Amino acid sequence: MFCESESSEMLHDISTFSMDKSVKDMTVEMCDSKLLVKLSWGVDLVATEGKYHLTCSTKFRNSYHSFQRAQYNSSSLFNSTQAKAQVFAEFILTIETYIEQATNVFKL
Ligand SMILES: [Zn+2]
Repeated sequence: MFCESESSEMLHDISTFSMDKSVKDMTVEMCDSKLLVKLSWGVDLVATEGKYHLTCSTKFRNSYHSFQRAQYNSSSLFNSTQAKAQVFAEFILTIETYIEQATNVFKL
């Protein structure tokens, strides 16, 4: 189900509901459109006798893990950019307050 190849590698059945669920979850999370098309939602893979090659399943899981890492990296990058912006905004505010006060002092 992860590939179209007619390789001679042994096919394994998707025999557990937890595997069915994890494949669906990973597919949705990665927005893997090719697999999304293959999986008709509401139909479980155990009942429809989904089959897979062990190497293809491993490849799929690996790509999911690198997807997760990429997600994590981009979100932490976003957070640090946000933190910098926050610090900068506070810095500007401090200067503005200082200028205001200085102007008041100058007026007196
Ligand atoms: Zn395969």
